[in-house]
Amino acid sequence: MTDCLFCRIAGKEIPAALVYEDERTVAFLDIAPRAAGHTLVISRAHAPTLGSLPQNEIEPLFSAVQKVANRIEQVLHPEGLTIGINQGEASGQVVPHLHVHILPRFKDDGGGAIQSVVNRPPPESISEIAEKIHI
Ligand code: 5GP
Ligand code: ZN
Repeated sequence: MTDCLFCRIAGKEIPAALVYEDERTVAFLDIAPRAAGHTLVISRAHAPTLGSLPQNEIEPLFSAVQKVANRIEQVLHPEGLTIGINQGEASGQVVPHLHVHILPRFKDDGGGAIQSVVNRPPPESISEIAEKIHI
């Protein structure tokens, strides 16, 4: 038996409001929703981060995100969606099993754009940073 909360939800050892599941992924409603339909999509495979998720799990995970996001749009009619991952403690990740948040959005819902979660502009130029990152 695993200690991981989301592995246990995927294995149905802990109940959750499931909205989608297939062989590789599970999607369920967040227990503390920031908006109606706030959903978490996970791989059944345990990996804490996107980088540690095996390559063959990437397509199934993002395909499930697309399916669930489309369904939320169809049935809940949000004006937009924010889709994102908190990776690492500094970003706010609390559950160390990779999960993609789908957040239904409305104008004036009290939130902001995803890039507004950080405000630490760099001293270096953009091209210097691009050179470092470039693969
Ligand atoms: P994080 O900050 O790690 O990206 O987000 C973890 C999310 O998991 C939070 O939004 C939190 O409300 C949700 N969560 C934590 N425990 C449970 C649980 O037992 N069941 C469900 N459905 N969601 C959970
Ligand atoms: Zn896990």
